[in-house]
Parts: sequence; structure tokens; C-alpha cells
Amino acid sequence: MNEQARQYVEEFMSRLIARNPGEPEFHQAVREVAESLAPHIVASPVLLKMKILERIAEPERIVIFRVPWLNDRGEIEINRGYRVQMNSAIGPYKGGIRFHPSVNLSILKFLAFEQTFKNSLTTLPMGGAKGGSDFDPKGKSDNEVMKFCQSFMTELQRHIGQDTDVPAGDIGVGGREIGFLFGQYKRLRDEFSGTLTGKGRDWGGSPLRPEATGYGTCYFAEEMLATRGESLRGKRVCISGSGNVAQYACQKASQLGARVVTLSDSSGFIHDPEGIDAAKLDYVMELKNIYRGRIREYADRYPSATYHPGQRPWGIACDVAMPCATQNELNGDEAQTLVDNGCRCVVEGANMPSTPEAIRIFQQHRLLYAPGKAANAGGVATSGLEMTQNSMRLTWTPEEVDERLHAIMRNIHEVCVRYGTQEDGYVNYVAGANIGGFMKVANAMLAQGCV
Ligand code: GLU
Repeated sequence: MNEQARQYVEEFMSRLIARNPGEPEFHQAVREVAESLAPHIVASPVLLKMKILERIAEPERIVIFRVPWLNDRGEIEINRGYRVQMNSAIGPYKGGIRFHPSVNLSILKFLAFEQTFKNSLTTLPMGGAKGGSDFDPKGKSDNEVMKFCQSFMTELQRHIGQDTDVPAGDIGVGGREIGFLFGQYKRLRDEFSGTLTGKGRDWGGSPLRPEATGYGTCYFAEEMLATRGESLRGKRVCISGSGNVAQYACQKASQLGARVVTLSDSSGFIHDPEGIDAAKLDYVMELKNIYRGRIREYADRYPSATYHPGQRPWGIACDVAMPCATQNELNGDEAQTLVDNGCRCVVEGANMPSTPEAIRIFQQHRLLYAPGKAANAGGVATSGLEMTQNSMRLTWTPEEVDERLHAIMRNIHEVCVRYGTQEDGYVNYVAGANIGGFMKVANAMLAQGCV
């Protein structure tokens, strides 16, 4: 980065931090993008004059609302609900809903910001958004989750619509929650529409939407490895998380011939050197999705595995690391450990799981490293395909959806290579994704004037 670009980033960031105090995750996500884009922006008088980056970093609209509900003891509980509608330049707002006690404005703004670039990369017409609540589904009964979802949707429904804003799942929001949210939406609005994605297969959902984020992450890894004449076959893979993304990343990586040796949750990780095969993964899916249990129970069930409480899996030697849990779950020290243990490829199923320091280490050591906004875009891409099917009132076969998902991931990889290849031939996937995602949104904003 030249001096002019560096100065542009620093001035831009100090204004952004002053305008958005106390939002470290948002600052982190914006800084990464600003650093990738600065050389192009300072070289483009029109981007500078039209203040495209300044506008992209300012949400179009944020809604914050009270979510009161009655727990099983008949007591009133109060949570806070949010929807950050970041950018609608290339399509209706689109992005997931997260239910987790850590949810706050900083986290949702970073996620909505990332979503804008990710959605643009999919080539589908979707703007960027994110929403959620500090509600913690852990330990709640189905009835309590339903009561909460109904109250949350009672307010949210007036801000969304199939041509306005289309929410979906994220951490803490899966098939069960989408069902409750959709039921209440339909009831209040008296319409059966594609306003939410991630719906059940029999009521408007797309085949392969549950699998799509994890599968897409593996397809992206295959593309990256192919640039060095390699593939997932025979590789040892460390996965963090044990939710939707981790489960289907594990499934697809195994189908492609890899040996997945770890999974985790917020309490610790399991290490199974023999690999988590299809039968073991069935157990994990039942444990997590039906019984809502903890990953520790895996080690009780399978003697080949050990449980490591309070730790993350990055100390386990592997060829490929797939962080599929949450933001900032892999720091600089852990990145160095992965490098020292021979890891060659890091592909993010989660959003912003690697800290800036970790990314620097991966890139310094010339690892194949792909940020979530490129590698995990298969989820929202398949949500886009669900919207298409809803509009047509038709359903494609799983094979058709898989074919399209695969083509979208291949295309995102090509875009990253096109915009991210450095003079020495190293592909900087961060720069590639940021520039590739930005172009379309910026051009649309230029065309649409000062809005
Ligand atoms: N929450 C997912 C993501 O981070 C999916 C969003 C969607 O399907 O709209 O991309």
C-alpha cells in the first residue's frame, strides 16, 4: 500500500471509529475492507468524490426493538431485537438472524457489512443485512423458543418482505426457529411468501439449504487446493464448531476423502484421530440437533476420541483448518501453531473467525487462506436460490441446486484469483474477495446517485 492509500485508510478509520464508538468488531471488519480497497479508491476520483466507501460503511437503516415474552414459569423476560439493513444497492436486504447472548450492535453491524460483500460475490441480486437478539436459546424449552420467536417476529414483520428484506438463520437460528418465525410472519401478514429462507422442504424451502454453507466451504477449499495441484483427499482436517456449518463441512470433507479429526463447542473440543466418519457424524447431528447436547458427550460414546475442556482445536496437527464456530475464534498464537504443525490451507466456514494478527501470519507464510465472505458464501447463495424457487413457485432437485452451488463457489474462487493475485503469484483471497465484492455494489451505487 502506498503512502497516500495508507493515509486514506487512517483518516477514514478515525472518522468511522469516532462515529461508531465502542464497536470493535465493526471497526475490525471495516478496516480489513478499507485496507484492501484503499489503493483502488485513491486512484479513482469518482469513488472518492462519490464517497462510496463512506456510504457503504453507514447502514441504510437500523431497527432496535423490545422483545418481551413469558417463560415456562409465567415470568416476563425481556430481550433486545435488532435488524441492520446495511445496503440495498444490488437487491433486497438479505442476511441471517443470530440468537446469542453476545449479540450487540457492533457484532450485527460487522456481520451486515460483511454480508454486503459476500452477497455481491454470489452474483445473485441480494443486498446486505443482519439481525438478531441477545436471547440465549441454550437451556430453553421448545415452548420458550417459540414464544420468543413469535414476539420477535411481531415487531420484525413490519420491516421485512420478499422484495424488501429476507432474513434467514445464523448462530442459534436453525430449522426450528425459522419454522416459528415463518409461522408468525404468515399469521400476521396473511401471506405465504418467500420472506424467510431456510424454510422446511415441504413449505417453501430449497433442497440443500441446510447443507449449503458447509458444502460450499469444502467446494471452495477444493478450488484453492487445486491451484497447488492438491485436493482434500487424504488430508487431515481440523474443524471448530459443531453446529450447522461444522456438521456439513465435516460431511462433505469426509465424502471428498479427508479425515476430519476435531469438532468443538464453546466448552471445549473433541479430538478423534481415527476420523469422524458418517456414522459418528449421524450421532453428532442427533446429539446437537435433536437432544441439544454438548460435544463432550462424543468422547463418552467413542473411545477413540479425547475431550479437551476449555480449549480450541488449533493445537492439533492438520493439513487443512476450517474454523466454523464464530468471530475471532482463532488468534495470532493459534495461527502460528497451525503453521508450525504443517497446516497449508485455512478456509473459513464462520464469519471473521481469524483475528487480523492470525490472517497476517497465514499470509506471511503463504498459506492458502480464504476469508468467510468468500468461502462460506454458499449458504446465502442457496438462500438466493430458495428465493428464486419461491418466486417461480417451483422446486429444483437436490442435484440441480448442488450443481448451481458448485458453479457459484467456483466463480467466487475465480473472482478472488482475478482480483487477488499478487506480482509474486500468491493469491491474496482477502483482497480478491473485498475488491470483487465491492465492484458490483460500488457500480450500482454510482449509477443510483446520492442515495
Ligand atoms: N447467516 C448466513 C451467512 O452468514 C446465511 C444468511 C442467509 O442465508 O441469508 O451468510
